[in-house]
Amino acid sequence: MCHRPVRTCIGCRTARPAVEMVCLIAPGGKVRLVRRGPGQGAADEAAGERGRGAWVHPRCLAAALEAGALMRAFRRRVEVSDRETLLAQAHAALGRFTDGQGDAR
Ligand SMILES: [Zn+2]
Repeated sequence: MCHRPVRTCIGCRTARPAVEMVCLIAPGGKVRLVRRGPGQGAADEAAGERGRGAWVHPRCLAAALEAGALMRAFRRRVEVSDRETLLAQAHAALGRFTDGQGDAR
């Protein structure tokens, strides 16, 4: 089977395959989404370059923002300048995984 990297969601604290989540980084304290290329490893590389990345399910992101989970994940003060846009980008990036219904056939 393919190797599937597992990450822990900062929202629900569940370890899940990284493909179900989006990666957030906070260069300069400004949170933004890592855009993934065709290769799923891109987010890891970007996160590694810019410091620690935070992984979260799109559906957990709103709760994570409310709970201050991002500040815990990054271990410093970070700010989200446009929460609505961030949420929209997260959902758009992973649209078909958001409900986790497997989509197997
Ligand atoms: Zn989650």
